[in-house]
This record gives sequence, C-alpha cells and structure tokens, in this order.
Amino acid sequence: MTAKIIDGKAVAAEIRAEITVEVKAIKEKTGKTPGLAVVLVGDDPASKIYVGNKEKQAKEAGFNSYNIILPQEISEAELLEKIDSLNKNPDIHGMIVQLPLPKHIKESAVINAVDPKKDADGFHIENVGKLNTGQDGLVPCTPLGCMILLKKNLGDISGKNALVIGRSNIVGKPMAALLLRESATVTIAHSKTKNLPELCKTADIIIAAIGKPNFVKAEWIKPGAALIDVGINRVDSKLCGDIDFATTSKVAGFITPVPGGVGPMTIACLLGNTLKAFRKSLNI
Ligand code: NDP
Repeated sequence: MTAKIIDGKAVAAEIRAEITVEVKAIKEKTGKTPGLAVVLVGDDPASKIYVGNKEKQAKEAGFNSYNIILPQEISEAELLEKIDSLNKNPDIHGMIVQLPLPKHIKESAVINAVDPKKDADGFHIENVGKLNTGQDGLVPCTPLGCMILLKKNLGDISGKNALVIGRSNIVGKPMAALLLRESATVTIAHSKTKNLPELCKTADIIIAAIGKPNFVKAEWIKPGAALIDVGINRVDSKLCGDIDFATTSKVAGFITPVPGGVGPMTIACLLGNTLKAFRKSLNI
C-alpha cells in the first residue's frame, strides 16, 4: 500500500482564502477589521521566523497585525501589564504570547492573564475547561488543524481507535480531547508508556507530537492507518517529523508530510480563531 499524502499546505491555503473573503465582507458591512497581536519575548531566531510568518499571513488575509517584541529581561509584572493593555485595546481581537518564555517568567501566569475571549491559542484555563466539557470556546490551533485534516480525509471518525503520542498542554492533551469529542476511542501515550509499538498496531489513527525525529516505525503501523505528524525536527539542516515518512508511507492509508502537513494548518487555525473572536465581539 502507498499512503495518500495529506496536503496540509493546500488545505491551509483554502482556509485562509475563505477567511480572507469573510474578513472583506465584514469590513464592508461594519467598517471593522480583525486585529491579531503576537507578543514575542526575546530574540530566539526560530520564534522570530514563526512570528514573521504569522504577521505575513494575517496581513494577506486582511487582518491588522501587531507584533510586540519585548526584551528577554522583561519582568513578569511588566509582561502582565503589557498583556492587560492588549486585553483592554478594542482593536485587538486575538492575541498570542509566543512560547517558550524566559525561565524567570511563569508560563501559566502569562497564559491565564490573556482575556479568554481574545485567547487565539486556546491555552487559557477557561478555554481548556470549555474544550474538556464540550462547551464552545477557542481551541488550540495545532490540534484543531490536525482534526480538520483528519475529518477532511476520513470523514466520520467515531469509534475509531486513535492514539495520541505526547501529552503536552499545547498539542497532546487538547488533541485527545478533540478526538474524544468526535467519539474516537482515545489512548494517550508518553515517555513512560511501556508498549508503544503494540498500541500503535491497534490504532486506526496516530497523532505523533513527541519531538523525536523519525521515532514512529513502519513495523508498528496497522495497514491503512491515518498518520498525522505534528513533530518538527531538524536533522542535518533538513526538517523531518516524528514519524518515519519514507517507510511508514508504504504501510499507512494516509500520512501528513513534514514540512507541508500540520505546520501550515496551525497558522490558518490561528487566523480562524481570531476571526471567531472578532465575530463574537461584533455579535455576528
Ligand atoms: P513537548 O516536549 O511538550 O511534549 C513531548 C511529549 O512527547 C511529552 O508528552 C513526552 O512525554 C512525549 N515523549 C517523549 N519521549 C517519548 C517517548 N520515547 N515515547 C513516547 N512519548 C514520548 O512537545 P510539544 O507537544 O510542544 O511538541 C511536540 C512536537 O511537535 C515538537 O517537535 C514540536 O516542535 C512540534 N510542534 C509542531 C507544531 C506545528 O505547528 N506543527 C506546533 C507545536 C509543536 P512526557 O510527558 O512523559 O515527558
């Protein structure tokens, strides 16, 4: 079997095109423009590139985009003050604080200082609670992007065995919650999991969010399974995922490439979340 390659880049472009049309229509009707603020602390080169991409795509979709670059030495209190001013700014409808933060700043304090209505990353405890109790809130962008790709390719996933490898707050846990919401039978694996190859063998869907290059092997895969690779790893200056694409793609039914799979979906969903928050602020 040769897996169907899921083209996340193309799906993300379609989503951004739909968002662009919607933003234009709302602008014409109300005179208002959605605003996305991206807060970056320090000058990590990888984060800078990522933030630059977000700004470019936000502008292309007709958003006002505000990049707020703060010095590495900023105190937690000063950062919280900045977030408070963005919370109060009526031109900002979605906001994210680029992670990771410097060690002297408590990540949870910052995440929970963002107004949950503007929490475009969906990390605020209120949005986490909403996701886990089936209420409408803002959902973390990367898992949301994975779910869009899955549903587009598999249709109904209810009753399917889904294995999420990784239990981070930003990918693994919300991914598991989204799969459960779609009535998949969900298993979460992590670094203490003892029988990962066996668990993989029973999975119709595998979502890998580990951060280890080519970790998931072809021998572990159930023929025809759908493989969603969240991992972004750099090996010999080339990007690769957490799933060994070259070999697993001969066994699986569906697979996302790295790059060009989940990555582009994350920014598209960030714009989607900001648009959702913008519409809510206008009651439309
Ligand atoms: P974290 O480091 O926060 O989490 C990694 C998870 O993998 C942990 O839960 C860890 O388990 C688990 N893990 C580590 N080793 C093993 C192992 N041997 N077997 C099973 N599980 C293991 O990473 P993130 O969730 O933030 O990101 C994961 C990957 O996804 C990274 O490559 C990151 O760059 C990428 N990423 C991509 C995005 C995109 O837009 N495409 C967005 C966000 C992340 P434990 O909890 O026990 O330590």
